[in-house]
Amino acid sequence: MRKKTAERRFKRMLLALACCWTLLLAALFLWNTRHLKEAALTLAESNARMFWQKDMLYRMWNLSHGGVYAPVTEDTPPNPHLDVRQRDVMISGRPYTLLNPGYMFRQVAELGKELTAIQGRITGFDPKGPDNAPNGWEIKALLSFERGAQEYVEHAQDDGNPVLRFMRPIETEPRCFSCHHEINMPGKVKGGISIVMPTEKYFLQHRKNAEKLLAAFLAIWLAGNAMICLMARVIQETLRKLLQSEEQQLAILETMDRVGVGLHVVDKAFRVHYANRTTEKWFGYKAGSLCFKAAHGKDAPCALCGLEQVIDQKETVHHELRWHDKVFEVVAAPIVTQDGVPAKLEVRLEVTDQKRIKEEERKAQELRKAKEAAEAATAAKSIFLANMSHEIRTPMNAIVGMSKLALETQLDPEQRNLISKVQAASESLLGIINDILDFSKIESGKITLEETDFRLQDVLERMTALLQIKAEEKGLLLHVESAPDVPEALRGDPLRLGQVLLNLGGNAVKFTCQGRVDIRAELAGQQADGLRLLRFSVTDTGIGISPEQMGRIFHAFVQADSSTTRQYGGSGLGLVISQQIVSLMGGEITADSEPGRGSCFQFTVPFAPGSAERLALHESEQVAEAAEKLLARLEGKRLLLVEDNAFNRELAAIVLKRKKLTVFHAENGQEALDFLRSETVDAVLMDIQMPVMDGYAACREIRNMPQLQQLPVIAMTANVMEGDMEKSRAAGMNDHLGKPLDEKKLFACLAKWLNAAAAPAAQFF
Ligand code: ADP
Repeated sequence: MRKKTAERRFKRMLLALACCWTLLLAALFLWNTRHLKEAALTLAESNARMFWQKDMLYRMWNLSHGGVYAPVTEDTPPNPHLDVRQRDVMISGRPYTLLNPGYMFRQVAELGKELTAIQGRITGFDPKGPDNAPNGWEIKALLSFERGAQEYVEHAQDDGNPVLRFMRPIETEPRCFSCHHEINMPGKVKGGISIVMPTEKYFLQHRKNAEKLLAAFLAIWLAGNAMICLMARVIQETLRKLLQSEEQQLAILETMDRVGVGLHVVDKAFRVHYANRTTEKWFGYKAGSLCFKAAHGKDAPCALCGLEQVIDQKETVHHELRWHDKVFEVVAAPIVTQDGVPAKLEVRLEVTDQKRIKEEERKAQELRKAKEAAEAATAAKSIFLANMSHEIRTPMNAIVGMSKLALETQLDPEQRNLISKVQAASESLLGIINDILDFSKIESGKITLEETDFRLQDVLERMTALLQIKAEEKGLLLHVESAPDVPEALRGDPLRLGQVLLNLGGNAVKFTCQGRVDIRAELAGQQADGLRLLRFSVTDTGIGISPEQMGRIFHAFVQADSSTTRQYGGSGLGLVISQQIVSLMGGEITADSEPGRGSCFQFTVPFAPGSAERLALHESEQVAEAAEKLLARLEGKRLLLVEDNAFNRELAAIVLKRKKLTVFHAENGQEALDFLRSETVDAVLMDIQMPVMDGYAACREIRNMPQLQQLPVIAMTANVMEGDMEKSRAAGMNDHLGKPLDEKKLFACLAKWLNAAAAPAAQFF
């Protein structure tokens, strides 16, 4: 819009300029033409004057000689008006007559008229002859002479042709009296010489000159117009660029305004020269206002503007500004206003949200760090628990194993009683350690579920066998049943399911003094994907749990109350572990209880039906048979037992020697390597944590010996975490046995590896 208005104004200006130029040239042309004409007329007058002057000169010359004699011819007869004695003379027999100035002038004038068309004659009010009588304009001229005029000039038309009429008076002098006796008064105007000169050729010349002038003016006019056009183009282009740059500037300013960037220009006198809407909205600045007045309502400037720094020292400054509840990033730079005033251009960007987000991010990061620290602490705690359980498990291995072996020997009843109690106590301690280990596994997210086909009945039977003795001891009725519609074979983790049931069943027996404990499995439904929902419930008639206690029992290391801890013992981990396992299985445990009347714990988990149930059972039978046969072939095999704990070494040696194996000992990895360099064995049972050289390093060294690459190396450790098995495999071990050693598992494993000739190591994990 601005552009169009400016263009229109520019075009109007251009038109006006062209008109002025044309008018100026036209005026100049007219003025020049007029002067040319005047010059032409002046020239004609000058010529007439010269003509007159020349005539007078001739006349004077003639007069000064008292006339001249000229041969008498037809054209020059004797002057009849001249009355002198010597008018006609004979020279050399030829007649001559005296020509006085008037006569000669007439003669010359007549000749001139023929040759130059300029007519000249002498005239006066008192003519010598009728031919000299003045005509109309001559009378006017003579009259003007009488009034004192020195000259008469008139441009007129004669028969349609332009002529110049010129006349000057002739004054008499004494020399004239010789011929003009009638005149006796010198200085008296006798008449005048009139000249009529055609001025056609002067006008012609003038026209020609005017035409040339016109051509020249036209050329100048055209050149001028061309210059104007050129200038216009240049100006238009410059204007366009200026407008565009102005538009661009406006667009930038507008955009800055729209996106909420404040911008203002202030001079050293604190006068605001420009402020966009955003700045006006935030700080109340307006063009023309004083910034301190507008922003603070003060009458005196504030010191913090940095005006000198920016305007005088020409520095660009960058700082943060807090204004009420907002935060701004400010950049100020020197600028000169369009009026030439040095000023400060300040751009203000509101960053309140960014600041808040940054602050929130900082807090979130701190929280994250705190969380990570807490997780690290939890992980450290889990590692500590795992380590502790390992440390306790190692001697426990010896206690459990030794007491078991001792019970197999001949003992008197008191000894048997004592050793049985040692075994029972150590087994219970082992249970606690297992709980701690499970918990630490859960906490560090290392617990995983197995996926295998199993018979639910087997799980229930194993659990019943373990609970039955305790229940009988307390005189409780233990009733375990599985509803008929529960599938016989399921797919899942039977050990973990058994662990949960044993935990809940164990608690039920523990916290019930009289009455019964009912454990039931039933089908709760079937999911769309074919999974069967099994509900397990463990109900007792025990002490029950108060609603207030109920909120705490699923927390780690927490018992319902301290008195029960004292009375019933326990670690407070069982329910937490059970809950975690059930949740891993995709279910949830709920508890319902009434103090003094008993409790009911329930959980529902989905299981896929076991499809290969029979085959699995058949295979396990076959495996058992084969294992028996293989076991028989273990006799005489040479075994290296690498174990730093003397009790465990002894225990393992006793167990192994019973199956007639030859057992060699090494107390650490280095000793084992030294032994293997000189002796041959059929397999190595390798502890992991040992002084000097641990089991992993030793196994890696063994695998570096070409002749021992196929030697079965079985890890034997109290470290039974998932990662430990990975590490064993990575170190090149064939298999992994947990401590305390399970005799059955030990021999099954040995049978497998000692009979599997040259089987590749990794295949069996
Ligand atoms: P604990 O090793 O102490 O048994 P649990 O996590 O298994 O640890 O149980 C936590 C607490 O919940 C128990 O100490 C006990 O107070 C309460 N509790 C669990 N089961 C029962 C039950 N069947 N009857 C009464 N109290 C129970």
